[in-house]
Amino acid sequence: MHEFGLCEGVLESVQTRAGGRPVAGIRVRCGVRHAVDPDAMAQAFSLVAAGTEAAGAAVEVVTVPATVTCRDCGTASETADLLAVCPRCHSTSVELSGGDELVLESVRYATPTG
Ligand SMILES: [Zn+2]
Repeated sequence: MHEFGLCEGVLESVQTRAGGRPVAGIRVRCGVRHAVDPDAMAQAFSLVAAGTEAAGAAVEVVTVPATVTCRDCGTASETADLLAVCPRCHSTSVELSGGDELVLESVRYATPTG
């Protein structure tokens, strides 16, 4: 489960941002190239975050599409499919860019009143 490695980096960002405040939930923008399974991500995060201020935090994964650019007709479009073909001319001679980010988008803190 490669989500573990990703989660360790995410946890570091969460802890830097939280500064010891209890974390109720996080939202992570994850490029489609990481091929992250949201359930596996949440499970992995709960394990790496155990014993920290982010223990038990809800994990929301926002999948970021990649951009596919056609070498034949020049069309650029977004795709969540890494075996992309050009949507316009159906060429398979395409170039993928982006979709490889892993960004902590937001952190939600636990409040005493809930
Ligand atoms: Zn094309």
